[in-house]
Amino acid sequence: MVALVDARRLVPRTDAVLADPRLAAAQQRLGRALVLAAVRQAQEQARSGSIAAAAVADAAVTALPARAATLTPVINATGVLLHTNLGRAPLSAAARDAVLAAAGCTDLEFDLAAGARGRRGRGALEALARAVPAAGAAAVVNNNAAALVLAATVLAAGREIVISRGEMIEIGDGFRLPDLIESTGARIREVGTTNRTTAADYAAAVGPDTGFVLKVHPSNYRIEGFTARPGIAELTGLGVPVVGDIGSGLLAAHPLLPDEPDAESWLLAGADLVTASGDKLLGGPQAGLLLGRAELVRRLARHPLARALRVDKLTIAALEATLAGPPAPVAEALDARQATLTIRAERISAALVSAGIDSRAVPSEAAVGAGGGPGVVLPSAAVSLPAGLAPRLRAGAAVRNGRAAAVVGRMADGRLLLDLRGVAAADDEPLTGAVIAAAG
Ligand SMILES: *Cc1c(COP(=O)(O)O)cnc(C)c1O
Repeated sequence: MVALVDARRLVPRTDAVLADPRLAAAQQRLGRALVLAAVRQAQEQARSGSIAAAAVADAAVTALPARAATLTPVINATGVLLHTNLGRAPLSAAARDAVLAAAGCTDLEFDLAAGARGRRGRGALEALARAVPAAGAAAVVNNNAAALVLAATVLAAGREIVISRGEMIEIGDGFRLPDLIESTGARIREVGTTNRTTAADYAAAVGPDTGFVLKVHPSNYRIEGFTARPGIAELTGLGVPVVGDIGSGLLAAHPLLPDEPDAESWLLAGADLVTASGDKLLGGPQAGLLLGRAELVRRLARHPLARALRVDKLTIAALEATLAGPPAPVAEALDARQATLTIRAERISAALVSAGIDSRAVPSEAAVGAGGGPGVVLPSAAVSLPAGLAPRLRAGAAVRNGRAAAVVGRMADGRLLLDLRGVAAADDEPLTGAVIAAAG
């Protein structure tokens, strides 16, 4: 009892701890509340006797969060290039730069030369138009789901949307496209079967009550074997708009992904409207792209719901820089050669071995992920490590206080594999440092 009272008396007062220069500086960076929480936690440790009273300031400094938001930078070494749990596409340096430049006040809806109101996001829309010449006009909303909701609301509320039974997809996390569409008041008119749907099935279903025909790319699954599905060109001429959801956001065809549709091809084939995600194979920020016939796109963009789905300046900045700037990290990851990845894995592994870590370079297989290219195998290389390092690489002390990036890999045969195809070469050094910190 006496010892307890003594310990309490010895614990330094809050204002005394906060006056520590390191904690005073942290208050500038993180705000008072977060620093105070770290101090309280350290005082509690001293009270319970788990640290010495004299160590309270040091313990508080160690417990400080890296930044005021809890989102932590992660090096995606899973081998899944587009990982929804890890924020999908990483932005290019150019896009990050643009986001930072737009973060303060910016000329979002202002013409600096004229000193008058300007068109919101003009640069991004012009970049989209340049990237997809077949599109008469473009609009950007919050994500592809929002693009579909807007199209269904404007073109088919209270009416029918004709869609193949083989394309009734679940996007992920329990969200299903048919439910999303029906939430707008449009009705789904299913045609065909899971494996086979013909142009005649669509034609038989189209009538005066049809809002549009919806063609959805199976972006996260494959139907193989005895299958049939008409292309876009076979669905035009039914007298109703053809809307195509390509999912991935590929704007032009990619040689490694022959089954992945791109916006330009579907528009040239006759689609009236194409919707896509910004943060999948396009490699940009979360966004929903609407590309197509000018009259349709303008109708969508002028609907009141468009205001509720519009994107902010950070998204607009990142999207334009992704389109106009150097190739996005996802494009570089797709195009990386296995020999190059192997050399990187060997180099990292050698550095880890000289730090006393059980590491070796191994061949590996990567995947595009839910963002597209289902079934596509991308030959890769990985750094193989003891499985026990995984939790510390994800959330060890160095990660918590911002000295190292979190690294997420995948398990295979009792080893932790850090697959390099989804890791930018510039991250090899931080990745090596993170492993050394986790092993220390
Ligand atoms: C990913 C995907 C969606 C959902 O896109 P979000 O941008 O995540 O809203 C819709 N349709 C298809 C075909 C997709 O692949």
